Amino acid sequence: MSPPIAARNIHESIDVITRSLNAVAAPIYVKGQDHRWLFANVACCQLLNSSLEQLVGCLDQDVPALVDAGTLGAQDEGFFQSGETPDPQPITIATASGRHQVTCSRTRLETASGPILINTLQVVGELAQVRQTNYELRQQLEERNGALEKLIEFEATLKRITDRVRDSLDEKQILQTAVQEITEALNVRGSNTSLYDLEQGTSTIYYEFTTLPSDRGRVSQMEAFPEVYHQLLEGQYLQFCSIAPNPVRGLVSMLACSIFDDRGVLGDLWLINDKDHGFSEYEIRLVQQVANQCAIAIRQARLYQESQSQVRELEQVNNLKDDFLSTVSHELRTPVTSMRVALQLLGVTLSQELGMEQELTSPDAQQSRIARYYRILKEECEREISLINDLLDLQRLDVGNHDLALQTIQLDEWLPALVNSFQERATSRQQQLEIVLNDNLSVIRSDLSSLDRIWAELLNNACKYTPPGGQITLSVLPGQEDMAKFDLINTGVEIPQDELPRIFDKFYRVPSADPWKQGGTGLGLALVQKLVQHIGGVINVESGNNQTCFTIELPLSLEK
Ligand code: ATP
Ligand code: MG
Repeated sequence: MSPPIAARNIHESIDVITRSLNAVAAPIYVKGQDHRWLFANVACCQLLNSSLEQLVGCLDQDVPALVDAGTLGAQDEGFFQSGETPDPQPITIATASGRHQVTCSRTRLETASGPILINTLQVVGELAQVRQTNYELRQQLEERNGALEKLIEFEATLKRITDRVRDSLDEKQILQTAVQEITEALNVRGSNTSLYDLEQGTSTIYYEFTTLPSDRGRVSQMEAFPEVYHQLLEGQYLQFCSIAPNPVRGLVSMLACSIFDDRGVLGDLWLINDKDHGFSEYEIRLVQQVANQCAIAIRQARLYQESQSQVRELEQVNNLKDDFLSTVSHELRTPVTSMRVALQLLGVTLSQELGMEQELTSPDAQQSRIARYYRILKEECEREISLINDLLDLQRLDVGNHDLALQTIQLDEWLPALVNSFQERATSRQQQLEIVLNDNLSVIRSDLSSLDRIWAELLNNACKYTPPGGQITLSVLPGQEDMAKFDLINTGVEIPQDELPRIFDKFYRVPSADPWKQGGTGLGLALVQKLVQHIGGVINVESGNNQTCFTIELPLSLEK
């Protein structure tokens, strides 16, 4: 005989639930509203030490293991009625394996044949164990979080102190910052730092930050405290507390770290706190790291100081050189000018009294020895005079003692005339020399004698360093606002990139770059640069692609 429809429906629903509930590890049973058990999953059968067949159809009191069947039934009933368990007491289960306390969590399910209850049992012992494990895990997590927070705080403090310490190139500021920051970060009573004189075997306290009486300036003989300095000189730290009270500080605890790097020990950093304070691993590590940073910063500061004093020395030497050159130039100027006058007179005598006028102007090969010697004397004298004048001009520009005579200059008249004076020389060397003017830029207001000198030097250089067949072009271009731009390009020659920054130095000449063997002193561009600055302009040079370009930008109107 087949079961009635209602019972069949329940069993179909239970079948579906069964398959899924057997896969759950927790003990679960299912009952109908009449409190008859419809199903118990494998874990529940194991817990109650009964088979499914024994349990299905039972009322609570029929389940042998349920000591508290009445309480369980009452809770289940309460849940059927209100969806809650009014008195959620643990239920006792007794089997051959022992007594267990279980708590229940219930779910109500509506089926076609009425509500059913799905009750999940949780053994209280297990629950407590889970709770205990959870608690331990939480504690571990909190401990780890605490450690992590401490680490983050450590890194932040260290970074802050490091940034401040490394910010400076002044040894005093480095060490003063270090003691202040470390005292504040660790909230100790004070700290100080000493520098060692290893030759004298002394340690002197130079900087401190403390609420205690000052120790600044105190010098200790290291050999008098071997128990301290032996370790510090080895780059180690030590901490201790006083046994007998110090007359000034009383009883305190102290931590000392040496300031050292791979090149040796420079000094030490001391922290002082209350007598019962033990410095933690964290504090020691922080102080050690700060001491390391101090060592790096001190080395840098000392290197910087050394290079600064070298720079000062070089500047002094340079000034001495300039003074010497200027004195020599002054001293030479008078005799050389006298020589020039004497040579002019000699020239007059040679041409008028000895009848050598024609010979003096004829080509080299046809000249007599007297005429040749005379020509050499004259040329060398002129070179000497121009060298002396260049040096004196440079000196005047250096001390700002060079007058400006402003005037309006008509570019399309002045520049072609200037360029033309080099035309003959360029042609004789098979160089193309041309000027490109700009219609929109016809006048500038500036100092003509400076401009004449600048362009004479630059055009002279262009002719001097351009090989035969090369092109020399001077172009006038509108520059940035209120500026005029001049480009002088000569082809066929490049200045090596590493020489470019030096060509404006006094007496600097690019080695073996003089195709016409004209020689020079290396003062030309130094003078040009000074003159350009003097009239408010800038000069730049670029070289590459088989050409060299000097660019000068000048104010359209220079006012004094
Ligand atoms: P002087 O004092 O007689 O002018 P100099 O011409 O050698 O001597 P600078 O005018 O200062 O000295 O030039 C420095 C160096 O720059 C030159 O020796 C030369 O090698 C390089 N130089 C200057 N102008 C040019 C140029 N237009 N093209 C290529 N090289 C140049
Ligand atoms: Mg020159």
